[in-house]
Amino acid sequence: MRQIYFDNNSTTPLEPETLQAMLPFLNGHFGNPSSSHSHGVLAAQAIDRARRQVADLVCAEAEQVIFCASATEAINWALHTCSGKIITSEVEHTATLEACSHLRSRDKQVTVLAVGSSGQLDLSELELHLVHDACTVALLWANNETGVIFPIADIAALCRSRGAYLHVDAVQAAGRLSIDFSALGIDSLVMSSHKLFGPKGAAALVVRDPDRIPPLLWGGGQERGRRGGTENVPAIVGFGIAADRALHSLAERASKASELRDRLETAILERVRGTWINGAGSMRLPNTCNVGFDGIDAQTLADILDGHGVAVSTGSACHAKSMEPSHVIRAMTRSHRKASESIRFSLSHLNTSEEVDYVADVVRSSAAALR
Ligand code: PLP
Repeated sequence: MRQIYFDNNSTTPLEPETLQAMLPFLNGHFGNPSSSHSHGVLAAQAIDRARRQVADLVCAEAEQVIFCASATEAINWALHTCSGKIITSEVEHTATLEACSHLRSRDKQVTVLAVGSSGQLDLSELELHLVHDACTVALLWANNETGVIFPIADIAALCRSRGAYLHVDAVQAAGRLSIDFSALGIDSLVMSSHKLFGPKGAAALVVRDPDRIPPLLWGGGQERGRRGGTENVPAIVGFGIAADRALHSLAERASKASELRDRLETAILERVRGTWINGAGSMRLPNTCNVGFDGIDAQTLADILDGHGVAVSTGSACHAKSMEPSHVIRAMTRSHRKASESIRFSLSHLNTSEEVDYVADVVRSSAAALR
């Protein structure tokens, strides 16, 4: 059976060129980057190169990049060490929401902003909350479930004018949108290798002033004393290559993905009655569409699509097994039912128009059969 992968916001496949670049570090170049001999130097140089490549993707300095094992780790680190009250939104990834709820249980003040039906924040409401001296604003750049993009430039300007610390979850934005960390004056930003065609096991916390963030792990002094522990060299090398490839094909990838996404969206809206797009009124990532199917249980439809070799999702991957409908769609629609009727299709430049046409066909016939 043919396999069609429309779940790129959950994770992306490793590109062959990236795998090739990683292989020597899995077989041969096994040195510990902390060793002073030539094996170690080779590994340390590879990490330096990757750090520059990752920094370049978001217009940051290499010294501002701290490698972590996952974005979840980086988010938890940033939030557990931030000062003052935290202001976040109800459509954040669970990594942020769960970290905030843990912090709240330890008496940290957390404010969770609501979004409107288009998935957007009311910036005047955010402004009203920015009255405390030291507060941290923790927001997504782009939503993993709907692709809705928050106006980070405006939010950054607002935070700067109020002296608030801005932490941005750019996991879905990195490699899909152009990001200028330095120009926007963001304080910290998170990205994840496996969302941009790199390997799992590498992510980055990019920090404006890395010397000010308290260490996460004490040990051998790796990551400038911020995160002890021998580095995952192959994964970091792959992350660097993936970031470099994303940077040099950003526009091309975005235009291919958006052409395919629009083709899918149009086909579904035209051919399947009772469908709507969650977040339609907002700027969205080029690759993502989240479709509601009136009267259809989304998980049942997703399972049928899986039976046809088509991978999609009904919520974020980490939550998919909980069977709770998406908290993001619930927040936007204020409807448990609509959330349980919504499916995310997340495409990439590696998909084809032929795949889109096939998926639109299977969706149409499966929805008709379910009804
Ligand atoms: N933030 C967003 C927006 C995500 O989509 C994800 C993963 O789905 C994460 C954070 C967590 O990333 P990781 O899998 O690297 O922990």
